[in-house]
Formats: sequence, C-alpha cells, structure tokens
Amino acid sequence: MLFLFFNHTWKGFERIEINKMILPIVAYGDAVLRKETENINPDYPNLKDIIQNMWDTMYNANGVGLAAPQIGKAINLFIVDTTPFEDKNYPDFVRVFINPEILEEWGDEWEFEEGCLSIPNIRENVSRPSNLRIKYQDEEFNWHEEEYDGMAARVIQHEYDHCQGVLFVDYLSGLKKQLIKNKLSNISKGGARVDYKMRLPRN
Ligand code: ZN
Repeated sequence: MLFLFFNHTWKGFERIEINKMILPIVAYGDAVLRKETENINPDYPNLKDIIQNMWDTMYNANGVGLAAPQIGKAINLFIVDTTPFEDKNYPDFVRVFINPEILEEWGDEWEFEEGCLSIPNIRENVSRPSNLRIKYQDEEFNWHEEEYDGMAARVIQHEYDHCQGVLFVDYLSGLKKQLIKNKLSNISKGGARVDYKMRLPRN
C-alpha cells in the first residue's frame, strides 16, 4: 500500500512517500503475548490500518500467520495466508479472523514442526488435532462458521493460541523446555538473529 501526503510545514509542499508500515514483532518474554485477548467491535480505533499493517509486517517477515498480540495489541484478531504451503484443499487461503472462537477440534493428532515470528530460530514438533470448526467475523463484521483441516487448521490453531496467551513452546515436554531455555532468554534479550524488527519485552 502506498500513501502519498503533503506536508507544508516547511517552505511550501514536500512530498512524503511511505510505502509500508512494518511494525516490530513482539519478542518472547513480553507480557502481551501471555494476555487473554479481548473481542473488538467495529468502532475499534484504526482497525483497517492495524490489519493492513499486520499484513505488511507478516509478509516482510515471511510469516504465514500473525496474531494481534504479536504487534502488541491484546485483541482477539489474527491473519493467515497459507498460500506458500500450496495446499490443494485451500489454494488461496488468505483470511482475517476477528473475534474467532474455535467451536470444536477433532481428528487424529499429527505432529508438525512449528515456528513463530515471536520466537525466532526455534522450531519444534507440536501435536494437534487435524480438524476444527471455527466461527469468526470478517472485516465487515459478518459472522462465518467454517471447518478446516491440514495446514490451514494448523496455522489457525497456532494463531488462535496466541489470542489465548498460549505459545507453541508451551506444548513441549519438560525436557525440551529445559533444552531451549537459554535460547528463549536470549530471544528476550535481543540476541536472536532475525531479518525483521523485533520489540523486546518491556514488562
Ligand atoms: Zn506464533
């Protein structure tokens, strides 16, 4: 998205171009990632801009999903774009989920190596049910109820968890948690190598 606007505070008009609003992604250890989020209504301030900024931020970091707490907002909202997975069942799965609620999960648990933009350079197998039914509102605040499986369900489960204050590392065994403890604290201190901007914990 390209914005053009004019600033006449200094010697006439000066054109300023802002291509994208890429926000820093909140790093592991920040309290906002642990909050249970609140539902929002259409009056929520700057919602359209927030969502656009989330898309820009997610694509800039090569993510397939991003939840509002990851940009520092404790609201029940996440975005998903699973097109990189080339899942035939959901070829163009690009969605905004507002006020989502997972109604049911079923099917065989399957393992997938998950990662998270808030927890860079750590990938671990997480087991989750294969299918789910979710209700949510779109950007016009119309309600939808849909069923998903495969990678679409997986990304929804991961992002939905963010809105409950849950992170994928929470599912790891005590031993695994112990093994990544130093890496996690390194991320919180800004020691992770990432090619996108992060916001370190200010708790
Ligand atoms: Zn995540």
